[in-house]
Amino acid sequence: MNVANAPQFTSGDAVRLAHDLYGLALAAESLPSERDQNFLLRDDTGPRFVLKIANRDEGLEVLDLQNKLLEFLATRDTGLEFPRLVAARSGLAITPVAAGDGAAYFVRVLTWVDGVCLAAVQPHSAALLRSLGAALARLDHALAGFEHAAAHREFYWDLRRASLAWPHLDLLPEPRRRLLQPFVDAWAAVDWSRLPTSVIYNDANDYNVLVDPAGARVVSFLDYGDVVHSATVCDLAIAIAYAMLDRPDPIAAAAEVVAGYHQVRRLSEAETGALYTLAAARLAASVCYAAGQARQAPGNEYLNISNRPAWALIEKLASLPADWSNEVFRRVCGYSPGARTSASLIESRRRTLGPSLSLSYSEPLHIIRGAGQYLYDAGGRRYLDCVNNVAHVGHCHPRVNAAAARQMALLNTNTRYLHEHLAEYIERLTATLPPRLCVAYLVSSGSEANELALRLARAHTGGGRVFVLDAAYHGSTSALVDISPYKFNGKGGRGKPAHVEIMPLPDVYRGPYRGADAGARYAAHVADAARSTGGLAAFFVESASGCGGQVFLPPGYLAESFAAVRAAGGVCVADEVQTGFGRAGSHFWMFETQGAAPDVVTMGKPIANGHPMGAVVTTREIADSLANGMEYFSTFGGNPVSCAAALAVLDVIRDEGLQENARDTGGYLLAGLRDLATRHPLIGDARGCGLFLGVELVRDRDTREPAAAEASALVDRMKELGVLLSTDGPLHNVIKIKPPLVFSRNDADLLLARLDTALRSHRSPPGSLP
Ligand code: PMP
Repeated sequence: MNVANAPQFTSGDAVRLAHDLYGLALAAESLPSERDQNFLLRDDTGPRFVLKIANRDEGLEVLDLQNKLLEFLATRDTGLEFPRLVAARSGLAITPVAAGDGAAYFVRVLTWVDGVCLAAVQPHSAALLRSLGAALARLDHALAGFEHAAAHREFYWDLRRASLAWPHLDLLPEPRRRLLQPFVDAWAAVDWSRLPTSVIYNDANDYNVLVDPAGARVVSFLDYGDVVHSATVCDLAIAIAYAMLDRPDPIAAAAEVVAGYHQVRRLSEAETGALYTLAAARLAASVCYAAGQARQAPGNEYLNISNRPAWALIEKLASLPADWSNEVFRRVCGYSPGARTSASLIESRRRTLGPSLSLSYSEPLHIIRGAGQYLYDAGGRRYLDCVNNVAHVGHCHPRVNAAAARQMALLNTNTRYLHEHLAEYIERLTATLPPRLCVAYLVSSGSEANELALRLARAHTGGGRVFVLDAAYHGSTSALVDISPYKFNGKGGRGKPAHVEIMPLPDVYRGPYRGADAGARYAAHVADAARSTGGLAAFFVESASGCGGQVFLPPGYLAESFAAVRAAGGVCVADEVQTGFGRAGSHFWMFETQGAAPDVVTMGKPIANGHPMGAVVTTREIADSLANGMEYFSTFGGNPVSCAAALAVLDVIRDEGLQENARDTGGYLLAGLRDLATRHPLIGDARGCGLFLGVELVRDRDTREPAAAEASALVDRMKELGVLLSTDGPLHNVIKIKPPLVFSRNDADLLLARLDTALRSHRSPPGSLP
């Protein structure tokens, strides 16, 4: 079929044909078409019609197929309204007419169906997308009883024949060819023998789908020029290919269409499995044909209608984890063993999980895939992850996965045997630290690391007292809850134990000291307490306070407070569980930004990219103090699998330049947040170091009244906008930003744009965001 052979009749010709052939005295208005010509025939009052002039290459038998199909559908109870054929005065359903070029063209007239085309309805609600699926399923259901010899044609829009499109790949620039190749390969692997066949409509694009005037329900499908006998599921695949266009969450939109369809016409497991591949193949075929047709008919605007959005969608789909979309569709159709609805999982948690475990967000997330800086939920939505600092080098980083899986298949034991991974990891880890910090212990969590740090400090000093920063959190064990004001002074806490002293949080935004001398003045509190405290074992301090609300220590604070603690015989413990491994950007460890060095460093979260692991690194003297004959053993700590994962994390940080990225992207993001603050008075302060940032919300910039309800509403709204954040701080009014270090400037731009949107929809007085 050559689009260049589209008929070239004028509106005047159409008026004349309508009059002469059909006795209709109506005005004619050209409608868009890929390869035919269509005219809307109308006056101001009476019924409307469509005059259709077929492409010169269109066979009579295919037009007969369309006519018979419409006649057939008119007899079925589909709940849909279809165009009806109007016979010419001669009695003919199809009338040949000669054009000025001497060629003969076939003319038909159909009744006009009222409605709004789906493309003109925005946004497409979930209900409307389901209605599209259901309507298409009713159409497919009805067409299962229809046969016509001409439907068994070799047709380039038949997805079974998509290979007819692939030669056009050569017309595309190399990067675009590369983008399409995986979709082409997936199409080539489709097992067509498992897919039921029937005559299908084959063209549910959003210019052909008609919706009722309220925009709530699909009422009709137009244009039967692509009807073909093929795998029935292709009809749905084509519908979802178009339903995904221009959508922020294409898979979620597609899932609604699939759900609506499956309720009416049950998809088999094989059909469900082929759906995504076929939808992507349709998009690939479309852009290939568009490239070919652009060559043949450079002036045809219709060809461009869906081309740009199609490329944008293809790029988006290419960035999704390969099997996630399939899994979403399998879940919709009930073919994912073990898959459960969010409601069932919430109910199970309520019944069987310890009730003190919490869930994030008022509507909890059900995440089923992670890759890079993105998380993917069971319903087809992708989220930009700005909070999970555990997936330090990106969710499911392939190098970390491969390293851990390889070692898991070889051997997993414990530190009572020799192993290269253990030796190599400790050598490389200690090499990142000041030379004094040269002895390491590997454990299984941040809490276990801090527990051991506490034991080390007590063994070394013989003391029992501990200094901590206000609002600090150091872990979940009994001993650590006792040194975590975040817990013992929080909900359900039993207050400060006698052996613990709370030091003021060195917060230069909200605390008592805010000027250039703040570091010294906050440190003076530590010095005072150190002078008056006997039996001091340790000062535990996060190098930047996470639970305290992303609070960055003022210059000089660590150096001066460490000196005072050491003078009193105490051990200085830097908790780098949140902040370590390059997140600070300018330095590998956050404490280095203070120009100070602790006696013990504790690590966790990011150390093995989500594999449960922690570490303590200290001095030879302190380590020796614990070695009193009692063995220290942590069954899982330092096992070769954990070490393999942790080694891969160090490799990736180095090879992907992630510390530098934290510095550059973090700086860029902080500047953007401060720019947002100039427009949104709700932002009292934006602060950060590398990719560890905080945005403190206030109701009044002068009184700094904390905006806690606004912060939690903003986080919920951001989730709706596809961005994951969390709140923290003693006043619950600080938005935390601590994404995987693969976070890019594009991601920062997206985060900033969404924050801008969410903040713009916020209007004082305080309360929840809309
Ligand atoms: N220290 C800090 C600063 C933390 O943020 C955490 C965990 N949130 C811990 C220690 C405890 O780590 P884990 O949960 O791995 O035991």
